Amino acid sequence: MSGSDEIDPEAEIEEREEETEGMDAEEEEDEEHEEDDEKEEEEEEDALPPEKLAEMCAKCGGRCCTYYTVMLDEPEDADDFDELRWFLAHEDCYVYVDESEWHLNVISRCRFLGEDTRCAIYDHRPDVCREFGHDEECEFTGEFDFEHTFNTIMELEAYAKKVLSPEELEKLPRFPKGHKGPA
Ligand code: SF4
Ligand code: SF4
Repeated sequence: MSGSDEIDPEAEIEEREEETEGMDAEEEEDEEHEEDDEKEEEEEEDALPPEKLAEMCAKCGGRCCTYYTVMLDEPEDADDFDELRWFLAHEDCYVYVDESEWHLNVISRCRFLGEDTRCAIYDHRPDVCREFGHDEECEFTGEFDFEHTFNTIMELEAYAKKVLSPEELEKLPRFPKGHKGPA
């Protein structure tokens, strides 16, 4: 046996460990795929039949295509609240809290929503559009009961007063007294 054919026990153990790790990673990946498949199957089971959805959307007129939402971090200090004040200083938006998650809602009609209230790029629409409304929980049929809705800076400031410490509240710039606020 030449020197190069000799078995190094340590190297062999290392190799086996690497193989086992590789197998563990593969198994984990397989499990994740299985979970994803199960989730997709459940979603498909819950999904409305396409013709029912089409009928519902025709009646509604495409409400979910007239805004978009962006998830926000929950505000924790004066700086966070000040950033929300900045959002609310703009027209056509509001902030809401649903299931403890904060969102900015911007009212803005999608460019692809036709005058006939149909999607002009239906077969190529983004995934978020495909997922919406399939479980009967959209704004046309579902009932939304948000924990909080802030349409104006003043509403947000009233909430900040309840949750911020006096020190943080002191740092928060306030809406000028006597100002009538946004129209
Ligand atoms: S809000 Fe609901 S019913 Fe209206 S277009 Fe969107 S998915 Fe269809
Ligand atoms: S891409 Fe189509 S489905 Fe998506 S928001 Fe725009 S009009 Fe609606």
